[in-house]
Amino acid sequence: MDDATLAKEVLAGGRRALAKAITLVESSLPEDAPRAQNLIAALLAHAGGSLRVGISGVPGVGKSTFIEALGLHLIAAGRRVAVLAVDPSSSISGGSILGDKTRMDELSRREEAFIRPSPTGGALGGVAGHTREAILICEAAGYDVVIVETVGVGQSETAVAAMTDVFVLLQLPNAGDELQALKKGIVELADIVVVNKRDVDAGATEMACAQLHSALSLLRPASHCWRVPVLSTSAIRNEGVDEFWRAVVAYREAMCASGEFEAKRRHQALSWMWALIESGLDTRFRAHPAVRAALPRLIDAVEAGAVSPAVAAQSLLDMAR
Ligand code: GDP
Repeated sequence: MDDATLAKEVLAGGRRALAKAITLVESSLPEDAPRAQNLIAALLAHAGGSLRVGISGVPGVGKSTFIEALGLHLIAAGRRVAVLAVDPSSSISGGSILGDKTRMDELSRREEAFIRPSPTGGALGGVAGHTREAILICEAAGYDVVIVETVGVGQSETAVAAMTDVFVLLQLPNAGDELQALKKGIVELADIVVVNKRDVDAGATEMACAQLHSALSLLRPASHCWRVPVLSTSAIRNEGVDEFWRAVVAYREAMCASGEFEAKRRHQALSWMWALIESGLDTRFRAHPAVRAALPRLIDAVEAGAVSPAVAAQSLLDMAR
């Protein structure tokens, strides 16, 4: 299939074309990079139409169970749902916390759903970059909700919050667990907090909700038009999912009404451009022949205290011009 046909088939909603297009943007082969860029350029005008929902939480909190229940709920309401994953463990170890087990069984069998496991390999920045492009491709293919899932290990949440419209943090009703997320600064990223598994212990769930609620009230709100709600669900019993989605819709409405929805997307696009520029400059700098030749000597000199870090940095930067 040539690239123009691939773009056309993605736009026509072909699942094979969609999978193939995502594989192309995930490719690390240098010859695929210009093809991937052309594809994104061809699809960009048709992207942007979905609601992008980030969902995060520690392994075992119930993310796949929750996403399956939510996905089926949305399909019943006439939507098409894509699920993408950002799994930092796959880039570090080659293995995967998110991808290996059979997940979202029922959802994956539905024609209206598209589930893509996490790309493997590359740094988190690379994996996150592929996922950004995969979002655009899913939108061009007509999916109106794109869910981006990630495990709760810090860095990946920040990446996912920076590519989605609404970021959701799933929590367990255990005492102390919510403090973990607070300590790591993840709660600050959340637009909606959900305590899952409320069927296990209703009292503990209520307490966790109250604690999270009061912790959130101490934080500076990210938007003056939205107060982060703390909801509870039992994903396995399909309880609270409808209420959760109403909160997502309310968030979008509030953000659209204040103009912040579009502003957030613009800001995300620009930050990503700058991140790519920085990483491109870094790669170019390190590959520069003069820098490569001088680097070992200057590293030794800085370590030995013979040259100051500032002087070494400046002379290397001068060489790379
Ligand atoms: P993930 O690692 O975050 O994707 O979590 P999973 O969705 O795989 O769920 C981990 C375990 O918790 C599984 O055994 C689920 O069946 C179970 N689980 C998920 N949601 C609930 C819930 O609401 N209540 C109960 N009791 N168990 C749940």
